[in-house]
Amino acid sequence: MGKALFWVAIFVGSLLVTRLLARKAAQRGLEAGQSGTNSPFASRKPAALRSSEQMVRCEQCGVHLPVSEAIRTGSHIWCSQEHAKLGVKSGT
Ligand SMILES: [Zn+2]
Repeated sequence: MGKALFWVAIFVGSLLVTRLLARKAAQRGLEAGQSGTNSPFASRKPAALRSSEQMVRCEQCGVHLPVSEAIRTGSHIWCSQEHAKLGVKSGT
């Protein structure tokens, strides 16, 4: 009886270990898939403008400006109040 319990304990233990490893591998896969998508401006940022201040792009006229001078409405970024009112450029 004691021996049977011993083998059951080993079986359950190995199951838990494989589950933990599988979960870790799945988490690692998720992290790899999410990297780069959390910052919508990182990919747009030109290398030449990568100074102390982050540069953003107006969604209306496409001009680049420092993030401190940009106007934000929700997830959109504009160079001026006028362009914020105009909204996202239609067409192209
Ligand atoms: Zn603009």
